[in-house]
Amino acid sequence: DLVKDEDLEILAELGAGNGGTVTKVWNKKRGCVMARKLILVDAKPSVRKQILRELQIMNDCNSPYIVGYYGCFPVDVHVGVVIELMDAGSLNDIYRQNGPIPIEVVGKVAEAVLHGLMYLYDVHRIIHRDIKPSNILANTNGEIKICDFGVSGELINSIANTFVGTSTYMSPERIQGAPYTIKSDVWSLGISLIELALGRFPFTDSQDQESESEDEDFDEDPTLPLNTQRPKISMSASNSDKKEKRKSKGVSLAGGGHTMSILDLLQHIVNEPAPKLVSRKRDFPEEAKVFVEDCLYKDPGQRKSPQDLLASDWISNSKVTQEDLKIWAQSTISQD
Ligand code: ATP
Ligand code: MG
Repeated sequence: DLVKDEDLEILAELGAGNGGTVTKVWNKKRGCVMARKLILVDAKPSVRKQILRELQIMNDCNSPYIVGYYGCFPVDVHVGVVIELMDAGSLNDIYRQNGPIPIEVVGKVAEAVLHGLMYLYDVHRIIHRDIKPSNILANTNGEIKICDFGVSGELINSIANTFVGTSTYMSPERIQGAPYTIKSDVWSLGISLIELALGRFPFTDSQDQESESEDEDFDEDPTLPLNTQRPKISMSASNSDKKEKRKSKGVSLAGGGHTMSILDLLQHIVNEPAPKLVSRKRDFPEEAKVFVEDCLYKDPGQRKSPQDLLASDWISNSKVTQEDLKIWAQSTISQD
């Protein structure tokens, strides 16, 4: 049975994006917590009905790599969508509060996103269209799932009309007007993985000269708090005062105070070499670098498919278990 708005009691705000706000809610009927997203939809009643119909496809999306769906309904000028609460939040929240994500965890993020993308495409012929760290969620059960995929064509149209959303995770071919393919999602994944591993958005206007301020706050390698390895480390203890600084969103990018306008950024993506998984302060495993390179061929024909990427050494040689991810996810929220 689908969840209705009157079943829900508001508990706390979880976050807000360009087109909506997400709230933690208590479901009185079922006696459990959920997440409710309100999307501002600028459309006439017939279009709203169509959107609500199209969103029902989410009801058939059942995968351990896709955030669960519980129902949707109109809420004045919004469309409300009730989804599974992911208690560790988005990977965007996690790295902004704790710094770079340990590379072993980034590998598991890649694996989960690829499984999610393949499920959506193979089973439902859906292309995600908005892969980025804020749409990759984690929970303290050690699960990683994707959300906010393009199920409803009408919703995509209605949102596009209400604001100018310029995605900075957009592939070169998309920027140049080519239609979305699953390869555009692969590009966005590559950009997202570098962002998580470096702890900053990878494009700066000093990308090739090694940015002075890169990773300035993090002198040590981020370490995976494995139960089999060292004891849990407290990454954010020394960085808690820097949280505020990391909160700033958008394209005001780290890099010695340089910022890039959105047009510069789009031009850069099209004209300059793709970013790489390199840091002045850290060494990343060769297999991880190769993987990211395979995601970021500017020619979508050369770019690898999700299937090939899942078979790559970085993914297949990973020794990180769900138990490890559980401990990691718990460590990211326990210090708040
Ligand atoms: P944009 O609107 O630009 O796509 P966004 O993805 O951050 O950005 P929303 O999708 O509205 O915007 O989500 C806002 C925030 O709410 C997310 O960044 C995340 O922190 C939080 N959030 C979203 N869904 C959930 C969920 N199911 N469980 C827990 N937190 C969530
Ligand atoms: Mg989102």
